[in-house]
Amino acid sequence: MIGGGIAGVSAAYHLVEAHPGADVLLLEAEPVLAHHTTGRSAAILLENLSTVPNRILTRASVDFLYDTPEDLVDAPLLSPRTVMTVCSEEQSDEMDELLAEGRLLLSPTVELTVDEAMGYFPPLRRELIHRAALEPDCADVDVGALHQAYVRGFRRAGGQIATSARMDAATPDGDGWSLDTTDGNVGADVIVNAAGAWGDIVAASAGVEPIGLQPCRRTAFMVDSPGCDTTGWAFAAEIGHNWYVKHDGEQMLCSLGDETPSEPCDAKPEELDVALAIERINEATTLGIRSVNSAWAGLRTFTPDRSLAIGPDPDEPSFVWCVGQGGCGIQTSRGAGLLLADLALGGEPSTIFGGADVSGLLPGRFRTHG
Ligand SMILES: Cc1cc2nc3c(=O)[nH]c(=O)nc-3n(C[C@H](O)[C@H](O)[C@H](O)COP(=O)(O)OP(=O)(O)OC[C@H]3O[C@@H](n4cnc5c(N)ncnc54)[C@H](O)[C@@H]3O)c2cc1C
Repeated sequence: MIGGGIAGVSAAYHLVEAHPGADVLLLEAEPVLAHHTTGRSAAILLENLSTVPNRILTRASVDFLYDTPEDLVDAPLLSPRTVMTVCSEEQSDEMDELLAEGRLLLSPTVELTVDEAMGYFPPLRRELIHRAALEPDCADVDVGALHQAYVRGFRRAGGQIATSARMDAATPDGDGWSLDTTDGNVGADVIVNAAGAWGDIVAASAGVEPIGLQPCRRTAFMVDSPGCDTTGWAFAAEIGHNWYVKHDGEQMLCSLGDETPSEPCDAKPEELDVALAIERINEATTLGIRSVNSAWAGLRTFTPDRSLAIGPDPDEPSFVWCVGQGGCGIQTSRGAGLLLADLALGGEPSTIFGGADVSGLLPGRFRTHG
């Protein structure tokens, strides 16, 4: 297993659960796990998000996130949260689409009046809101605890983790692979690529054709809360993803909602992006943000059609993909790990997917040749 973010630890846990006795070693390049995108998310579970194939994975994850096996966690992973999306008159068609997509959810998206919207996020500038929609049953995810839950389950089943161990190359060796890592040479029957932004680099270093992953930077930062009671406030977002804000204890988490193409790297926030986010949020609300307590950036990595790629490579089946988590890798992690464990050794999707068509998640869709 290459990569110790949420994708890698979930895949590793589900592999040892589905295949007891499998000898799984997780290699992480950094000295600690979850240093990159996983440690930098907005930590929201929002069902009305992303592509149809990705929604299959979110749906397969929800029960586990709400009702996580007690031996994996010390406390519940989710806390209730509402998410509200607002739009201007020009964006009304996008609002119709959002409402249509949310109609089929177990807890459907509802349209709010502007008065109701003001109740859910009082700092909004009323005159700028044309329409609003509420996702009533979302949640904040304790991402650190979720990551740790997978690690705990994996280690308990005998899984091994090596940190400061970057895979630099892999060459076919008999029926399996010989891996060169910064921690020495390792043999493996199967490689699972959960390297996030580095997914295509890992593939190329094993002689496997890349699938066209694009890492995109997203900026986030914390500011002081406005000093009033924020209980019951929604996570508020502009429908075009030009900004979002969520209260978080004594602070507010803000984002520009940016999606700037980047090379794989340890992403850092650009001052200009933070300034632009503040300008947009101050235009849309009365929060009057003047200073920032902390800022960070992370890479959300997309496949060409923005759905994850999970399963054996069509040309090299002992190289298995688990990449393209984009902006929903936390909330899809359980479903992605389960599907990976089902498919990695040549099996079929298990019943938890309810016969859903998972073809839009298989890596073969990106291969146009023969
Ligand atoms: C600002 C922001 C907000 C977000 N909000 C949400 C949200 O609300 N909800 C949600 O579900 N998702 C959200 N996301 C997306 C989510 O964080 C990602 O989809 C997810 O963390 C990706 O996990 P990963 O394991 O694929 O990648 P990473 O966490 O980046 O892990 C990949 C790991 O692979 C390792 N690696 C790379 N190459 C090698 C190698 N050669 N050898 C060994 N190890 C290697 C890296 O060091 C890294 O640790 C957000 C992201 C950002 C940036």
